[in-house]
Amino acid sequence: MKKSISNISPLLSDKLESLRVLLVDDDEFVLDFAEDMLSELGIKTVSRALDGHAALTAIDSALRPLQLVICDLTMPGMDGIEFLRHLADRNFEGGVILSSGSDKRVIKTVESLVHAHKLRFLGTLQKPIEEAALLTALMDLIGSAPTDGYGLIQKLTPEEIRTGLDAGQMETFFQPKVRMADRRVVGAECLVRWRHPERGLIQPVAFISVAEEYGLIDDLTMAVFRKAMTHLGIWTRQGHDLKISVNVSMDNLNRLDLPEIFADIAGQSGVKPDRVILEMTESRLMSDIATSLEIITRLRLKGFGLSIDDFGTGYSSMEKLKQLPFTELKVDRTFVCGAARDSVARAILESSLKMGHALGMSIVAEGSETQEDWDLLAALGCDEVQGYFVAMPMPADEFIAWKTRWEASN
Ligand code: C2E
Ligand code: CA
Ligand code: CA
Repeated sequence: MKKSISNISPLLSDKLESLRVLLVDDDEFVLDFAEDMLSELGIKTVSRALDGHAALTAIDSALRPLQLVICDLTMPGMDGIEFLRHLADRNFEGGVILSSGSDKRVIKTVESLVHAHKLRFLGTLQKPIEEAALLTALMDLIGSAPTDGYGLIQKLTPEEIRTGLDAGQMETFFQPKVRMADRRVVGAECLVRWRHPERGLIQPVAFISVAEEYGLIDDLTMAVFRKAMTHLGIWTRQGHDLKISVNVSMDNLNRLDLPEIFADIAGQSGVKPDRVILEMTESRLMSDIATSLEIITRLRLKGFGLSIDDFGTGYSSMEKLKQLPFTELKVDRTFVCGAARDSVARAILESSLKMGHALGMSIVAEGSETQEDWDLLAALGCDEVQGYFVAMPMPADEFIAWKTRWEASN
């Protein structure tokens, strides 16, 4: 079993390498440990401070602005909470990660404080810090969703998105799905990335909801679906037995000929619909329920797999399960990541598994980040796993090489 993240794409490792980080903790041992971990991730510029005063001095005297502070809460001298206030006073624009051994309620309070200060909060890490959790928090910083000074995601304008679509700048990344029973790579989820000529690689949070709102989501979904089918066709002809999942927005379910369009595109790439899973989440209300239901049902009749995404988040709920012919249930990552230590998450995970299995669905856990997550999922009888613990989303041309390495290491 791999002990940590097995894939960081070259793009991300470049960004990690150039990150300027400050570690603040009164415990030298913790500092050593964190510094080792950062250096394993390829981060080269790490400075350290033993309390808030020293940290502020480091920030004020840095030649180039620091981009990330990882800060303990309890320290003699100036503690973490006071330090955060001073950071906010300085309009610190970098990311802030809290590391703490304190109990959850204290952390929740501090987190709301960080938000109130309008600092760019990336998350809280429980001590001892785990590499996967650290990397996840870092993703917000290095995954280049354009952000304003407060770290809030800056959405792209519909005009920009239109231009990007017309210029063919949407790329497909793939994140492996692995079957727990035998660790076989059964497929991958296709995730869109926008290769912007000036802004670099843009994450979907910055443009999917805008595309939905401004009527651009049909074009976006088609662009992604075409690329996904092209790759899947090639991989299948190379002898790889894979299913590819593509995200479909509820706003795409507006034209009755959608099942034919998808089937045609798949066919042009030599892909059978039963190799394709369409993931849906009710992120917005279905505007015309009768039409949506008809389309979903006919997609299933054509042979497409149907996955209910983000299950448990309130958008995708029990009701849908009974109404619609879904073949797969994807438990949202909030109930997966860290579930071994969170009794509420674990309970939701367990009941989702029971229910899904009772309805004959395959259960996929998304957002599995650690060995602990994996072990719990295996014990609970989850079918498939997707998450940073297995691999991060990667460009299409890295996928088969990754798969080969994964299979060789099993
Ligand atoms: P999603 O469908 O829930 O996709 C999973 C998201 O979780 C991906 O984010 C993935 O990178 C991230 N993820 C995977 N493993 C882990 C993990 O172990 N820990 C954590 N913290 N996160 C993990 P991504 O690629 O940024 O996509 C965000 C959302 O954007 C997707 O959420 C999906 O709703 C939407 N999206 C992405 N591509 C498309 C697309 O082609 N069409 C549409 N309509 N939506 C898309
Ligand atoms: Ca999805
Ligand atoms: Ca999801």
